[in-house]
Amino acid sequence: MNASRPNPLAFIDEELAALRERHLYRPLRVMSSAQGPIVSLDDRRVISLSSNDYLGLSHHPRMKRAAIEAVEQFGAGSGAVRTIAGTMTLHQALEAELAEFKHTEAVLTFQSGFTANTGVIPVITGETDLIVSDELNHASIIDGMRLSKAPRVVFAHADVDALREVLRQARETGRDGQGAPHRLILVVTDGVFSMDGDIAPLPGIVDAAEAFGAAVMVDDAHASGVLGKDGRGSISQFGLEGRVAIQVGTLSKAVGVLGGYVAGSRALRDILIQRARPFLFSTSHPPAVAAACREAIRIMVEEPELIERLWANTRRFKAELARLGFDIGRSETPITPVLLGDSETTIRFSDRLFEEGVFGTSVVFPTVALDRARIRTIVTAAHTDEMLDQALRAFDRVGRELGVIAG
Ligand code: PMP
Repeated sequence: MNASRPNPLAFIDEELAALRERHLYRPLRVMSSAQGPIVSLDDRRVISLSSNDYLGLSHHPRMKRAAIEAVEQFGAGSGAVRTIAGTMTLHQALEAELAEFKHTEAVLTFQSGFTANTGVIPVITGETDLIVSDELNHASIIDGMRLSKAPRVVFAHADVDALREVLRQARETGRDGQGAPHRLILVVTDGVFSMDGDIAPLPGIVDAAEAFGAAVMVDDAHASGVLGKDGRGSISQFGLEGRVAIQVGTLSKAVGVLGGYVAGSRALRDILIQRARPFLFSTSHPPAVAAACREAIRIMVEEPELIERLWANTRRFKAELARLGFDIGRSETPITPVLLGDSETTIRFSDRLFEEGVFGTSVVFPTVALDRARIRTIVTAAHTDEMLDQALRAFDRVGRELGVIAG
C-alpha cells in the first residue's frame, strides 16, 4: 500500500486485532486427507470429532463410485442455473427420490442448506404474514427472515408455552393491530439444534400451530440421516408426517456431499422454481454431487447398520464424557457439546486436545453466547471403539490438566 495514500480497509486490521485480544480469533486448520474419523490436519494425523459426516458417507466406496460414473457420463459441471440450461435428469431424479424418501409430494434441491432457507422463507412470506421463530434457530433461517418483508417474533428456545402465547397474541391483534387475520403465520424451528444437539419439541409445536391456524417449517439439517426411520428426520421420528408444511434438509451432513432441499407440496416446489433467488440466480449442482446424493439415499435405506452404529457410538461417548465429569449439556443426538464456559479456556482445551491427537473444534462467541463456549463434538458411524477410547483418554488428560474436571 502506498504510504502517502491511507488504506480505506485499515479498520479490518483493527477488528482482527480485537478478536485476537479477546481470544475469539480462530485460524483455519487445513486438511490434506479425505474427510473421515481420522484425518490429516496441519500435517498431523488426528481423530476427528468435528465433521457432520454422521454416517461416514463422504468417503463411502459406493458414493465415490456414483460420483465418478456421473462425471464420466455427464461431465464436471452443469453449465448454468436450473431455469436456463442447468436442469439435468440427475437433478430431477434426485428430487423425485428425495420426495419419496421424505414422504412428501415434491422436493426442490438448492445448492446448500443455507440457500434452501434463504431461498424459501422470502418466497412464502411477505408484509401480510408473520414469522414466529425459535431464538436458537440457525443463521440461515435468520438470514432468510431478514430477506423477507414479513414481521417476525422470536420465542424462547423450545418453549411451547411461549410459542402458544405468541400465536394467541398474533391472532388477537392481527396484522393491523385490529384483528385482521394474517395471510400466513409461519412457525419456524430447527429439528435438531446444531450447537446444543437438543431436539425441538415438535409434537407440541405442531399442536400449537394447528390450534392457531399456523403452518410449521422445520429445518432438519442435523436430523436428516440421524433421526426417524432410515434417517428420514425429526418429522418421521415423532410420527408427524403430513402435519409439517415445509421441511428443509441438507445434503451436506449425513448425506455426505453438498446441497439442501425443500420438501413439501407440489405447489410449494412450483412457486420456488419461479421465485426462489438462489435457485434462479446460482448454478445448479455438478452431476457428481447429484449422483452421489442419490446413492446416499439408497445407502441409508439398504445399510441400516450405519445409523445403528452412529447411535451406539453416541450413547457410549456421551456416557463416558459424563462419567469423567464433563458438562455435556442437554444434547439428545450425536452432537455433544463439552461446555467449558469462557473462550480462552475453550481454545486452550481444543489446542491441547489437538496436541494429544484429537480434533475437537472450539465454538466461541458469536456462534454461541460469550459464557457458553464449548468443544463441539460429533461422533460418526465410522468411529471405532478404539478411536473413541483414545479420544476419551485425551479429554480426561486435558480436562484434569486445565482443571475442568476433578483430578
Ligand atoms: N441449517 C442448520 C440447522 C445447519 O446446522 C446448517 C449447517 N450448519 C445449515 C442449515 C446449512 O446447511 P449447509 O451446510 O448444507 O449449507
